[in-house]
Amino acid sequence: LEPPRGVLEIANRLLDAGHETWCVGGAIRDALLGRPSLDWDLATSATPAEMRKVFRRVVPKGEQFGTLGLFDQDGVMHEVTTFRRDVQTDGRHAVVEFGASLYDDLARRDFTINAIAFSPRGRTLHDPFDGVGDLRRGVVRAVGDADARLREDRLRALRAIRFAARFEFDFDPPTWAAVVASGPHLGRLSAERVREELDKTLRQVRAPSWALERWRESGALATLIPALADVSPVAFTTLDHLPVPRGRRERGRYLHRLAAPWLERDRVTAERSLRALRCSNQEVRWVADLVDRWQRVAGSIRGALLADAAPAEAELRRWASAVGRVMVADVLRLGAARWAAERAAGREAPDAARVRALHRRMIRVAYGQPIELADLAVDGGDLLAAGIAAGPGVGIILQRLLAAVVEDPAENDRERLLARAAASND
Ligand code: ATP
Ligand code: MG
Repeated sequence: LEPPRGVLEIANRLLDAGHETWCVGGAIRDALLGRPSLDWDLATSATPAEMRKVFRRVVPKGEQFGTLGLFDQDGVMHEVTTFRRDVQTDGRHAVVEFGASLYDDLARRDFTINAIAFSPRGRTLHDPFDGVGDLRRGVVRAVGDADARLREDRLRALRAIRFAARFEFDFDPPTWAAVVASGPHLGRLSAERVREELDKTLRQVRAPSWALERWRESGALATLIPALADVSPVAFTTLDHLPVPRGRRERGRYLHRLAAPWLERDRVTAERSLRALRCSNQEVRWVADLVDRWQRVAGSIRGALLADAAPAEAELRRWASAVGRVMVADVLRLGAARWAAERAAGREAPDAARVRALHRRMIRVAYGQPIELADLAVDGGDLLAAGIAAGPGVGIILQRLLAAVVEDPAENDRERLLARAAASND
């Protein structure tokens, strides 16, 4: 267990000023599991006012909860929180009180594996709830009475599932019972906290389907994302075939995982549900578009690939045109995952090699051939100049021209298209 230098430096300054200081929380758990952790949290007996006496430069990070950002010599900020005790809770957020001991501070934490403290100077663990034992056994166990602790803050039900999924741990039976008991009550949580949990589940867990099935089993899904409550298991195992997002902020892979469960739902349902979860407008629109594009072509691509390893080029252009250039790769990436999940479930679906070959060909077609209105050798202005009356008819004619060009790119010639437009205008 080796805290980063900056964390040690801050701990030492607080210790030298006579304040008890410990490393706590997720970083200790992760280090004991042999996983690197970025943020090492410090907990101290010093109040925010006392910390301000030791450090000239501080950043308030929720001072009512006792958290300050302190800077090490390299100018890197670390969060330090005063030991605290929960005094009263309403199932949505905790109210905290200072003047607490390390024991109090650990006792208010959710799971034993998250309630281990490490002394940066003595290099010893303080582990009153046997979190180390639960790490060794692979168990997620609430600190204290599981039912009472999950009642205090229902988000802990989702956290329990996330930690179990992330580390492939079991639940201590009373903790799982409390998770199930929480299912119907999760509606009181703020959408932001729920979205944050879903977000972390999609980003941190290698195979999120296990977590999503526990959301389903506990009733969390029916309460929080009812539109997904009865999707097929494959809608969730599809996520296991999509790569883990690379960083905490990476979007591409994250969006694929966010979109995957919605392939069985229509775009309006996906839009409404993601909006209710307070996903950003951009995310909502992207997922809804992707679902919509998928539904335009998935059945046809699946059928073609099952029948034939190499569909005709014109067919590829039709698909690319229906999807639009920018989403071709995303649709096929989702398709590859979805069909892999179907095959893993024993269903017939296009095999991976065929999907890969199609992907390569589709990219070449989508970026090398005319498949969008903007690729046509004429535009609306050209049609007007050629005497076609302004109005909705122009758009309809352009669509017809595009359809002809998609069938045969040799048609994408200005003179030919104008002749075709004149004919189609009669
Ligand atoms: P992650 O890797 O997801 O960040 P973490 O354990 O660091 O995992 P955080 O949400 O960053 O989780 O919280 C830090 C610590 O604060 C936890 O380890 C836990 O001790 C405590 N904690 C966080 N949320 C809660 C909660 N809802 N109830 C009780 N304790 C909590
Ligand atoms: Mg953390």
